[in-house]
Amino acid sequence: MMYYSTNGKAAPATLRHAVVKGLAEDRGLYVPERIQRLSPDFFANFRDMDFAEIACHVADAFFGVDIPQEALHRIVRESLSFDCPIVPVDADKYALELFHGPTLAFKDVGARFMARMLRHFSDGELNVLVATSGDTGSAVANGFLGVEGIRVFVLYPEGKVSPIQECQFTTLGQNITAIAVDGVFDDCQALVKQAFMDASLNEERALTSANSINVARFLPQSFYYFWACAQLKRRGVQEAPVICVPSGNFGNICAALYAKRMGLDVKRFIAANNANSVFYEYLRDGQYRPRPSVQTIANAMDVGDPSNFARVLHLYGSHAAICADISGATYNDTQIAQTIRDVKARTGYLCDPHGACGYRALAEGLQAGETGIFCETAHPAKFMDTVEAILGEEVTVPEKLLAFTRGQRQSVRMPNDYAAFRTFLLEHTKSQIQ
Ligand SMILES: *Cc1c(COP(=O)(O)O)cnc(C)c1O
Repeated sequence: MMYYSTNGKAAPATLRHAVVKGLAEDRGLYVPERIQRLSPDFFANFRDMDFAEIACHVADAFFGVDIPQEALHRIVRESLSFDCPIVPVDADKYALELFHGPTLAFKDVGARFMARMLRHFSDGELNVLVATSGDTGSAVANGFLGVEGIRVFVLYPEGKVSPIQECQFTTLGQNITAIAVDGVFDDCQALVKQAFMDASLNEERALTSANSINVARFLPQSFYYFWACAQLKRRGVQEAPVICVPSGNFGNICAALYAKRMGLDVKRFIAANNANSVFYEYLRDGQYRPRPSVQTIANAMDVGDPSNFARVLHLYGSHAAICADISGATYNDTQIAQTIRDVKARTGYLCDPHGACGYRALAEGLQAGETGIFCETAHPAKFMDTVEAILGEEVTVPEKLLAFTRGQRQSVRMPNDYAAFRTFLLEHTKSQIQ
């Protein structure tokens, strides 16, 4: 299957090209040439399948013509090493818990899937560069950990990442190198960008990014929604649910929109934003006004120019069509905190700041007789300081997270200087010219 750029100027690409390059040459995002509907037979039976079985069917529809089935199903099964249960919070609202993976955030499946797909498509040594302010670095580092032939360099601003996040990518060793840059997140991003634009470096070394715009990271997230609907049916809910996704770069919700296009019966969608409300405003007046992000307590959604907006627009084609299927919501930090407190007091369920946006948007948007699912995208303990300050009580930290804090932190300190970064890369990677 070919992949087309949302900007329409780059040449159509093979799956291999789209995965290895990430962004199209015209700086657009790759989208598959067609979105295949799953068979009526699948929909008649999927409530009785397990998560991996469902995911294999979905993966076949996207990647089946490009990757031999045995290899593809192995990639799928290795990526889903954990469950994503739905948990009733109210009679009509379920949390879809996407945080039971290695780093306790929903990006784990995409990162693990992408690592294995890159491995499938490349034969030599590949070097992944990623700049992070926290969550992406941990998901990518853990997703790529131990994957043969791929080295990962995680650049982060020294002293500006929370200790619990820092230990999730600095304690791993093996093929993961953490680089503490003397600067801010934007400096890390600039160093990575400069490396990708350095033509002579790219001739000598195979470099790629693990950016969330990569089709291998975003498409597998559609597995979650088929599995959520299967679980709902098992619980005896027959009608199509409303699905609410806390959104930043809009990759996760975009995968949910694709799932509907593949035939999944979803009534409609809600995109929940924090104070970064560019999409919410777009729904209101049809104007897309990207701007610098503002900091919030749901910081993985602090995005002022959501990259997957291009894919949403491409999928629906018009503002009116988008509005017919997706509504929006935006909440400031005070409202997020209030929601975490209220839901905990009333139901006992503990939301993290991102999930709280999702819960509230669903609670305010659900109509009588509808059933809703909101994504819980991270475990509340990942935002321990914030959540404890809001509730005034301690949050239990899962063993998985504690294990990271006991590891030996190791990172290379680096000045904010491209020449130094380049030299380091050349010394610590292998030449692609044999
Ligand atoms: C990345 C992230 C989001 C936002 O997901 P997008 O796909 O960027 O919209 C929400 N919550 C958490 C915890 C995240 O890490």
